[in-house]
Amino acid sequence: MEKNFGIYFMSQKRRFFVLFCLAVCLLLCLPVSAIAANPPDYERAKANLARLQAGNPGPNSWQACADEFRKVYNNNPKWDLRVAALFRCGVALEEKARVTKSKTDARNAASVYEQSASKFPSSALADDALFRAAVVYNELLNDQKKARVHLEHIARRYFRADHAKIAAEYREQMDQKGGKASASSSPRKETTKVSRPPSGAGTQMLAAQLGLSVRTIIIDPGHGGRDPGTMHNGVVEQDVNLDIAKRLRTILQKLGYKVHLTRTGNTWISLAERVNFSRRNKGDLFISIHVNASENTGISGLETYILDFARTSSVSRLAMVENADSGRLGDMDKILTEILTGARTTESRRLADRIQRDALSYLKKNGAATHDGGVKGAPFFVLVGSSMPSVLVEVGYCTNKKEAARLKSSKHRQRLAQGLANGIHAYARSLRGK
Ligand SMILES: [Zn+2]
Repeated sequence: MEKNFGIYFMSQKRRFFVLFCLAVCLLLCLPVSAIAANPPDYERAKANLARLQAGNPGPNSWQACADEFRKVYNNNPKWDLRVAALFRCGVALEEKARVTKSKTDARNAASVYEQSASKFPSSALADDALFRAAVVYNELLNDQKKARVHLEHIARRYFRADHAKIAAEYREQMDQKGGKASASSSPRKETTKVSRPPSGAGTQMLAAQLGLSVRTIIIDPGHGGRDPGTMHNGVVEQDVNLDIAKRLRTILQKLGYKVHLTRTGNTWISLAERVNFSRRNKGDLFISIHVNASENTGISGLETYILDFARTSSVSRLAMVENADSGRLGDMDKILTEILTGARTTESRRLADRIQRDALSYLKKNGAATHDGGVKGAPFFVLVGSSMPSVLVEVGYCTNKKEAARLKSSKHRQRLAQGLANGIHAYARSLRGK
C-alpha cells in the first residue's frame, strides 16, 4: 500500500530527533497517568461489561457484572470517579431487565441510576443516569409519569449537559406517541428504531439517542489509480474495493452514521493522505477494504486484520503486497509504533472480531457461506498511525475461481457490504455506556 506517512519523509537525523522526543514525552507521561488511573478492578469490570455487550449473555452474567461494579463502588470510597462504577452497575442491571422483562429487575436498574444522580448530582454522569432512569421507567416499567419527572429534572438542572437535548427530544417523542417513546439502546430491539431520514442534525441526534460513541466512519477502498491492486480471474481489486465501499457507505448512512470515503473514484492516494484524511475528518472508526490473492488457488475466505507485527510467513507476505513499495520500518520505529498503537489494539481487536463474525454469519444466512480466515494481526501501514479502532478486511481471494466469480457479482458485493455493516453497527452499539 504505497508510501509511508509524514514522519518517514523527514531526514534520518530529524526523524530520529522527533522519535526521541516522543519517547521522552511518553516516559514523562507515564507516572502522571499512573496516579490518575482508575482502580484495576474497575477496568476489569468495564472490560467484562464490554464483552457482555458484544454478545448475547443471560441474566446471571448481567447480574454478576452488576455485582462486580457494586463491589468496585463499595471498595473505593476515596476514588474521584466512583459514580462511574455505580452508573455502570445500573447499565448491567438494565441489560438484565431487558432480558428477563421482570419489573423487579427494571426497578432495581432504575433505582441504581437514581442513586447515581442523587448521590453525585454535580458529576458529569448525573444527567446520563437520570436519562437512563427515564428510559427504564418509560420502556420497561410503563411508568410515563415517573419518566417525565426525570426528563424534566434534566431540563431544569442539567440544561447545559450533553443529555439535555436528547432528553428534550425523547420527551417530545413520548408526547407524540401519547406516552411511549423508545430511545434506548438494547441491541435486541434496536433495528426497528433506526427509521428516520439519515441526514443533518436529526441523524446526529438519533445517534446520540442510541448512545453511540461511534459517529463518523472512515471507509478506505484499497488501491486505486496507478495502483490497481491484485488482478486475477477478471477481478480488478481497486474496482471491487470501491464498489463495496460505496455500498457500505449507503447502508451505514441509513443507520445514522456520518461516513467518509478516502477515495470516491479511480484515483491514486498515498498512504500518508489516507491516514491524514481520517484524522482530518475526525473518524471514530476506520475500515480498509481489500481483495486477497494467493499462489494456492485452493485458498479462499474472508479475513480481518488489525495492526500487529506479523509472525507467520503468509501474513508477512500479504502485508508486503498491501504495503507495496512503502519501505521497511527500522527497529526503533517499530518499538515506538508499538507503544503508540498499543492502547488501541484492544478496541481494534473487538471491532475485528465483530466484523469477522457478523459478516460470515450474514453471508451464510444468505446462501454464500464463506471460509472463515480468522482475525489476524499484520503490520499494514494504513493501520499504523491511525488514532481510532482500525481494521483491514480482505473480503475474498480473487485467485480462487469460485470466489472470483462471486466478487464479480453485484449481489455478492452487496451481501459483503451488509455483513460488514452489521459487524460495525454491532461494535458501535457495544460501546454504549462506556
Ligand atoms: Zn489490497
